[in-house]
Amino acid sequence: MSGAASVAATPAAPGATRCPSCRRAMQVLDLSAHYGRRVEIDLCPACHLLWFDGTESVRLSGRGVLDVLRAIQASHGQAHEPLASTLACPRCETRLQRSANLTALGPTAHHECPRGHGAAQSFSLYLAEKGFLRPLYRPEVEQLRKRPEDRQVYFCLNCGAPLDPRSREACSFCASPVQVVDVLPLLRAVDRQTGQLGAGSATTGGLKPMHHACPHCGAQVDLLRDRRCESCTMPVALSHLGEALRLIEPLAPAVEAGQATPELRRRRLAESLDGAPTGLPPSRPAHGYQHSLWVYFAAAGVMLLLGMLAVWVAR
Ligand SMILES: [Zn+2]
Ligand SMILES: [Zn+2]
Ligand SMILES: [Zn+2]
Ligand SMILES: [Zn+2]
Repeated sequence: MSGAASVAATPAAPGATRCPSCRRAMQVLDLSAHYGRRVEIDLCPACHLLWFDGTESVRLSGRGVLDVLRAIQASHGQAHEPLASTLACPRCETRLQRSANLTALGPTAHHECPRGHGAAQSFSLYLAEKGFLRPLYRPEVEQLRKRPEDRQVYFCLNCGAPLDPRSREACSFCASPVQVVDVLPLLRAVDRQTGQLGAGSATTGGLKPMHHACPHCGAQVDLLRDRRCESCTMPVALSHLGEALRLIEPLAPAVEAGQATPELRRRRLAESLDGAPTGLPPSRPAHGYQHSLWVYFAAAGVMLLLGMLAVWVAR
């Protein structure tokens, strides 16, 4: 794939970060983050691990997200390594401690240095934490079991190993749960800049549909609009990170150039006028401040009346 060649991953120099599991030098991903910042994340393609220095959770730009996806996808084609039973901090060699968190998108976990040097996270947990992956729902597994003739191959989104979601609950190689790519959140994150993808049916008028065959019934779904397949009602998802990248890569030049489309400019203007992103519930009641101002006036009026009453009674 042409995209894989342009990943901002460089072979690690001596003195580079050592993988917490296999202790080999990790790849450095130099990624673009919000507000024009750069952030470095280390990646071990064999162990499917990412290392984040410090505790700061950086929000990657669309281009940064795209580069992480490319690096993860590229590593899926390489030899795998089972994770060591204990992971060591690349900075101080202290044993990393597993820490589980509950995020807005569900439970997640990573391995933290107790001295605060940073944290390691598996590819799939990182992608799930960002909302790009979700587990395969029970009705989806049942639907797949009903169609044994449909031999669509699923791949572990952590290590890239092929797996059969009909017979297994988790990847037999790395024990990650069977997951699928949740298309719209991924498109939104990659395309924050141009604002065309994943913006919802109301704003995708000028875009060509992204047709994809439903894995359950074979009907065509439009990944830009459909949350569910119209013919079998199963939720829309992709079984392979490579599939997601194939859809996104044609849009990469616009994402990389950071072009804001007229549509995005209109949406930003509307957002700045409304004070809340369109399509989302406002974070406070729309007239909250005006109401509270009226409450002040009313209270002041009542106080004035009471004062006048008191003066009148005192006479
Ligand atoms: Zn490793
Ligand atoms: Zn440490
Ligand atoms: Zn796996
Ligand atoms: Zn379908």
